[in-house]
Amino acid sequence: MKTIGVLTSGGDAPGMNASIRSVVRTAIYNGIKVVGVKKGYDGLINGNLEEMGLSSVADIIHRGGTKLRTARSEEFKTEKGRKKALNILKVFDVDGLIVIGGDGSFRGAKELSKLGVPTIGIPGTIDNDLGYTDYTIGFDTAINTVLDAISKIRDTSTSHGRANIVEVMGRSSGDIALYSGLAGGAESVIIPEVGNDVDEVCQKIIKGRNRGKLHSIIMLAEGIGKADELSKEIESKTGIETRVTILGHIQRGGSPTAFDRILASKMGSEAVKLLLSGESGKAVGIKDNRIINMDIDEALNVESKLDKDMYELTKILSI
Ligand code: ADP
Repeated sequence: MKTIGVLTSGGDAPGMNASIRSVVRTAIYNGIKVVGVKKGYDGLINGNLEEMGLSSVADIIHRGGTKLRTARSEEFKTEKGRKKALNILKVFDVDGLIVIGGDGSFRGAKELSKLGVPTIGIPGTIDNDLGYTDYTIGFDTAINTVLDAISKIRDTSTSHGRANIVEVMGRSSGDIALYSGLAGGAESVIIPEVGNDVDEVCQKIIKGRNRGKLHSIIMLAEGIGKADELSKEIESKTGIETRVTILGHIQRGGSPTAFDRILASKMGSEAVKLLLSGESGKAVGIKDNRIINMDIDEALNVESKLDKDMYELTKILSI
């Protein structure tokens, strides 16, 4: 293996840059040339490749977003599109590819590895929705961003005696809502894995008010319902003014936390080592604080499960 490629794909996540830096520096340390592919699989199909030297990744470990940019590519989902990508890799003499992204990007990586390109996946997504790994790069930064928002919302909710619904990202995984809800002392956490029991939420708000609580924070994962409709229902059932804050893309940005930078650095380095040892079609992860790897196929089949104990704890502590 003389040259490897690296790309970021799908939704961006803080820490992707730290991961790119780790891939580039580990490869060069091992005498391997690195080319960066701009704009994910779309850039790969269109030959948007550039060699990356040591200093190309200077001053990015602390930056959110991705220096290589990201994109979604419908064309890459077709056999024809992937053949184009394969030809580009041949033209640029790229012997192996590291893909940093979420489950969609991993499906793409798996297809490339089937075509004979040694490919390794690094989980970069704020959603923490890949079951084979305890954490994905960007999740820790996202929950800290949400936590900061909760603290601010709590101040103003207390002043006015309001309830506040905080809608966060997570279509199929409630981890952002759950982790930030526990850390932020939320009264209720509504997530797709459990469902929405509005009466239970209302009961909590009323009980809280009756014992003198001045605010209620309700965490809502985007996959489980509309915040506006929920606020109206809560207002009509409790008589308590209920405001909505939708955090949106603020959750995707910002300087990565120490946890995400370290995770990204370890995973980037592991991905290069896997390519150098002749592996292909593997996903890097972290399990019980140890860096692991698994067949991408197998990894994609591991269901992303709710931490039930943590969910119960959130309920107990907001009694
Ligand atoms: P994420 O990686 O964040 O989950 P997406 O699901 O949008 O984001 O996937 C990113 C890109 O990966 C897609 O735009 C597409 O190019 C590629 N991709 C997704 N699913 C497949 C698939 N089944 N086969 C090949 N490529 C795929």
